[in-house]
Amino acid sequence: MGAKVTPKKDMKSDCKYIFVVGGVISGVGKGVAASSIARILQDRGKNVTAIKIDPYINIDAGTMNPTEHGEVFVLGDGDECDQDMGNYERFLNVNLTRVNYMTTGRVYQSVINRERNLEYGGKCVEVVPHIPLEVIRRIEEARDIANANVVVIEIGGTVGEYQNMLFLEAARMMKLRDSKSVFVVMVSYLPVPSKVGEMKTKPTQYAVRTLNASGIQPDVIIARSQVKLDDKRKEKLSMFCNVPKDRVISAPDVDSIYDIPINFEKEGLGDMICNVVDMKCDTSDNDGSRKWKIFANKVHNSKKEVNIAVVGKYFDTGDFVLSDSYLSVIEAIKYSGYNNGVKPVLTWINSIDFEKNKANLKRLSKFDGILVPGGFGSRGIEGIISVVQYARVNKIPYFGLCYGMQLLVIEYARNVLGLRDANTPEVNPKSKNLVINVMDSQVENINKNKMGGTMRLGDYKAILKKGSMAQISYGSNEIVERHRHRYEVNNAYIKQLEDKGLVFSGTSPDGKLMEIAELPKSKHPFFLGTQFHPEFLARPLAPHKLFSAFIKSCIK
Ligand code: GLN
Repeated sequence: MGAKVTPKKDMKSDCKYIFVVGGVISGVGKGVAASSIARILQDRGKNVTAIKIDPYINIDAGTMNPTEHGEVFVLGDGDECDQDMGNYERFLNVNLTRVNYMTTGRVYQSVINRERNLEYGGKCVEVVPHIPLEVIRRIEEARDIANANVVVIEIGGTVGEYQNMLFLEAARMMKLRDSKSVFVVMVSYLPVPSKVGEMKTKPTQYAVRTLNASGIQPDVIIARSQVKLDDKRKEKLSMFCNVPKDRVISAPDVDSIYDIPINFEKEGLGDMICNVVDMKCDTSDNDGSRKWKIFANKVHNSKKEVNIAVVGKYFDTGDFVLSDSYLSVIEAIKYSGYNNGVKPVLTWINSIDFEKNKANLKRLSKFDGILVPGGFGSRGIEGIISVVQYARVNKIPYFGLCYGMQLLVIEYARNVLGLRDANTPEVNPKSKNLVINVMDSQVENINKNKMGGTMRLGDYKAILKKGSMAQISYGSNEIVERHRHRYEVNNAYIKQLEDKGLVFSGTSPDGKLMEIAELPKSKHPFFLGTQFHPEFLARPLAPHKLFSAFIKSCIK
């Protein structure tokens, strides 16, 4: 934060910067396109890092509603960020940190703090150039920390929006300093209006002109559409968008996003980027690209289905919304499924259904496994608790993530220990048996309403109990996982819970915080909950071991 803002004349000469911007509409897969570009360059031997820029004022994504903005992804250093950061980590199989995530709020906050510290030497601090200069400083910081020779930078939003103009300005300034080091990708959308039946290029033409008005000419257009782009459309885009025809890349809808890096290479995108920015790279078939292709094939070839019910709230706003709210969970299940040769089929069930009518629980009998992801608040919670009970009694594999673990403990306390009113203060602070309690460190935050970035966040170590399901699944005695919570198992109840058979198989190194609860294999095929979020560390080329253990028990 304290770095001086004097613009550097030369950007680190061997580093290339690839900006990814969006045209026409949002939600066309800019994040996946950016991740795929990063992946193909990594497979060409480059050290690649990726940055997401979100144009909103929020300091992070932690305070935003996941049904509107998608999942809040958590990095190892505890940064609560956009779900695209998860895509980057998964595609690149690397761990990123908060320097890889930028919001307008963060940029302005740094500039204002610096002004208060007299770091601008008496100058008038202005939106231009000081804000774009801070953007550039952050890009260079991420580059230096990763020692990267390629930085992929995704600018959120669509061109033409007021919100992302200053980030485009930063890209323009970087290109002005060294045109050979900056490459701009426009991911645009080509609609096929149903009554017209023909793919339309005009919205993309406008988008490119709007980008031109920011002083930027795209180097390539990635044309997203339902179907493949034909030659005529390529010619039109080339002519009117001022881009050579071979730099218009067709990117039709695909069944699996893991095919996209492979498709980009087929369209020549890797060579094109390297040629334009004058970057030498290794195009030989390497271990990374081989493994990627093997995984991408498994996605298509895994035919045997395993049926998993995902139970929670947030599911009543329409399918497209919900899948975004739990993106990492879905991906984690897929990686463990495909890598075990099965195709996971997820059914989203709103827990409120079980509150309305307990008989609905029978619907769960047809599933091979039940998963309850993280969550907050009191809505739908009684329904989830009855689902946990159903899974326990009927020996259906159950995997609870964060809130899903806390509710497992509440269910056990109520129905096995007989503590009928067992609860968490999040649902009923007046309960006499708060088997889940507020963490000591969180009391002040909650009382003073200091809710932004104050949960127990990111990496913490846990020690595993020898011979437990968790320890056997991980194959190690010590783990580090990512967290996001304010509540924890109340230690006053641990003895009672353990006496009745629940095993706390993972704890913090000092033994004070319960990280994993499970039933032994002799009592249940898989009944396990984690206080942390294992989904944030699941990768296509490194599936998460707990998810794999869950999937294996579902297959059985
Ligand atoms: N609401 C619970 C807590 O804050 C669980 C959080 C979560 O599932 N991420 O502890």
